[in-house]
Amino acid sequence: MIPLRIKVDANADEPFVVRLRSFEGSVAGDIPIALDARDVVLERVSDAAEYRGEGGCIRVHGIDPSQIDGDVLLVNPHRGSADRLVRASSPHNTFLVTERCDQLCVMCSQPPKAHHVDLFAHFEAAALLAPEGATIGISGGEPTLYKEELLNFLVQTMGKRTDLRFHILTNGQHFDELDMPMMRSLERERIVWGVPLYCRSPEVHDEIVGKQGAHARLVETLGFLCRAGAQIELRTVLMKRNAPGLTALARFITSTLPFIQTWAIMQLESIGYARQNWQRLFHDSSAEFDGVGRALDLVRSRGIEAQLYNFPLCTVPASYRHLAPPTISDWKRAYLDECRDCTIKDGCGGFFEWHPKKHGYAKLGAQS
Ligand code: SF4
Repeated sequence: MIPLRIKVDANADEPFVVRLRSFEGSVAGDIPIALDARDVVLERVSDAAEYRGEGGCIRVHGIDPSQIDGDVLLVNPHRGSADRLVRASSPHNTFLVTERCDQLCVMCSQPPKAHHVDLFAHFEAAALLAPEGATIGISGGEPTLYKEELLNFLVQTMGKRTDLRFHILTNGQHFDELDMPMMRSLERERIVWGVPLYCRSPEVHDEIVGKQGAHARLVETLGFLCRAGAQIELRTVLMKRNAPGLTALARFITSTLPFIQTWAIMQLESIGYARQNWQRLFHDSSAEFDGVGRALDLVRSRGIEAQLYNFPLCTVPASYRHLAPPTISDWKRAYLDECRDCTIKDGCGGFFEWHPKKHGYAKLGAQS
């Protein structure tokens, strides 16, 4: 697995953000890259890679400098480590804004914690150093628990870096009309809001997210986002509990939420609560795809884009595979022994690194 946290020595009192320049005189095309005050340049490699910049020196251990050229790190000198906030060579960069959440979803991949540390100043510094045209994910916990800070962060970074785009996950429980002017001031084309809706039935949705009234509040928020002109990616994690209601949800989307950009039906990630409850939650879509197929057909027949996220390609009938892009991030993607000679592996997102060996799919195997 690609490491997101690396070992770093730095002589400083507080955490700080730097960008690594592993090759002196790095160039973009024929143009030498101008150094920023936060850049540190590789000086030498011994038992560690030593970088020096205006603020001093850092030593990076255990990773080849060529793999981290252009990466933006949040260095924590007390822990002796750094988080790779932006990996320059990857399209999958996400800022984890908080681990707090006001919901408790049965399949949560990152069970919430009470503790919160505000890192927005570091996130802003990191975003400003991201590669040209980058898309940055924002996730949690629930990012909009810190809505004011989040919106200010977006205004600042989008104003200073007009090439950046954002993909923001939110449970849609915290917006209100007072947020409308700020939401409308953000360039809609540059932000996609990923919002989960699990079922047409309020009872089932509320049961899945562990919060009474969440469905009603969410539907209000979707209307709010529509009026704000926001791009919405509606997300539905497929589970035994909501699979039977997929067609009803598709009808609800076409009748009430036709303004969404994309409906993403997502396979379950076996980590956090989902791992603990795997047998109870996992819906084998390779054996029972009909409901998924009907739901896709229905929304697509009304001109709404629909996609399958985190579905291994061979578990999807051939006629729907073009709707299943490889969505699992590079740093957590893995393939099974069964995949070794598969001819469609290049277009397949495979599995989460932590997917159980007994994968649960009745129909899976290399395509020849
Ligand atoms: S065998 Fe593996 S690589 Fe091939 S489609 Fe299935 S999951 Fe993907």
